[in-house]
Amino acid sequence: MKNFKKITAILLAVLLVAALAACGAKPGPAPSGKKYVIASDNAFAPFEYLNTDTNEYVGIDMDILAAVAEDQKFDYEVQNVGFDAALNQVQSGQADAVIAGMTITDERRLTFDFSDGYFDAGQILVVAADSDIKSLEDLRGTNVAAKISTQGADYAQSVAEEYGFTVTTYEDSPTMYQAVIQGTNSACFEDDPVARYSIQSQNLELKVVGDVINAKPYGFAVKLGENAELISMFNAGLANIKANGVYDDILAKYGY
Ligand code: GLN
Repeated sequence: MKNFKKITAILLAVLLVAALAACGAKPGPAPSGKKYVIASDNAFAPFEYLNTDTNEYVGIDMDILAAVAEDQKFDYEVQNVGFDAALNQVQSGQADAVIAGMTITDERRLTFDFSDGYFDAGQILVVAADSDIKSLEDLRGTNVAAKISTQGADYAQSVAEEYGFTVTTYEDSPTMYQAVIQGTNSACFEDDPVARYSIQSQNLELKVVGDVINAKPYGFAVKLGENAELISMFNAGLANIKANGVYDDILAKYGY
């Protein structure tokens, strides 16, 4: 009996050590082992845009997501469906999360849970390269373009009456830019880094004017109250890639 107790104790100790070793060995797959569906914009350089040589979506958001997923060992696929569609997919449960240069706002916190911020950006007024428009005052009597469901559209609507202009919304950034280039609209509101990057990289006949409006952090988001483990993993992974230099390398790749 005494021996039996001793053997049992030794066996238990061995099992415990083995179990601890297995846990500490390596971060395993995501607790659920599931493949997350992440929705994103489809034309929002330098955050997500199609590399026409490789036919793959690239950009700061795509790289940060890949680095975080590698660090946290979770599986995912991205659907680059456009900004408004991405938000809708998360709300309807077709996607688990969104990463799309999405500004963290109090209003959105009513329907989304956000990660920590990973990039600060505000909006800016964009006009045709040969335009005389220099400020909001010059928009009086004109029709201004904005992208549906964005902070730029919200801002445009919020000051439209005061500055005496109307607003037309477009589905995506490239269509909005073309409307301004072709003179259908006097100007558009776009995120500052995106406007600058797009104008330069695509040689667009556009320019930015005035100051940056409402600079705020971008966040990775899930539907309110769902996929909490994904937000935890994103935050943990983001902290790790900031600490190990990967985050800085990603930004540097796109000129930041
Ligand atoms: N940052 C802006 C927003 O959250 C625009 C995002 C986008 O167009 N992808 O509304």
